Amino acid sequence: MKIKSIKLIAVAVMLAIATPAFAQFNKAKLIKGAGKAVQAMTITDEQMAAYVKEYIDWMDKHNPVTGPDNEYTKRLARLTEGLTSVEGIPLNFKVYDVIDVNAFACPDGSVRVFSSLMDIMTDEELLGVIGHEMGHVAHKDSKKAFRQALLTSALKDAVASTNGVAAALTDSQLGSLGEALASASYSQKQEKAADDYGYEFLKAHDKNPWAMAFSFRRLKALQEQAGAQKTSKMNQLFSSHPDLDLRIQRMEERATKEGFAQPENK
Ligand SMILES: [Zn+2]
Repeated sequence: MKIKSIKLIAVAVMLAIATPAFAQFNKAKLIKGAGKAVQAMTITDEQMAAYVKEYIDWMDKHNPVTGPDNEYTKRLARLTEGLTSVEGIPLNFKVYDVIDVNAFACPDGSVRVFSSLMDIMTDEELLGVIGHEMGHVAHKDSKKAFRQALLTSALKDAVASTNGVAAALTDSQLGSLGEALASASYSQKQEKAADDYGYEFLKAHDKNPWAMAFSFRRLKALQEQAGAQKTSKMNQLFSSHPDLDLRIQRMEERATKEGFAQPENK
């Protein structure tokens, strides 16, 4: 039996839910990073693509990707049938069989959904999250975050020292890249736009867009549960911020205004 645990840091990666303090911390880091970047280098689209490929190949190699006959694989394949590209970027989907509750998308259209997220969501809620992640790809948010992560101090020398071609990153550099990506957060504006994308995505697939708000409610319930159990030292950062509440409210108001009946919350 798989042991379930709640890792709020992972939830945070997906939704970039942040207290003002946390946001400020990130902002300070980003500004510092950007300052270095100006004098350092530019990264071409070709280099970016090569680094993204290195990263996602490394992630797929170091995480338990579910096999073709696995129930998670089949469920995700069924849900994403016909989803081949977003804004001309080809999509590919895989499941990581891990305890973190998360999903992420890379700028190359690689979308990874974690089994523990699939466990807590209905099909429609999961589609809402997938739509949200596709929104980050379509809006180039994930590309910007990836570029920024490449320019963090642990990596910029490796990236800078290669004249025009992408460096082959070592395991530890790829680990640093993963950490930089995990601590990156999207702005509220980017998150709102991705929420709207997910909402439209549900509508376009004849699903009730209330699922968007419902998926956030699930994550909120997780947060509260984790807060009560004091399982994570990140809790204090996430205990009282209003972001998720506001996002739930926004999605609910939109669905109500557009005349969608609220389904029973399963
Ligand atoms: Zn997001």
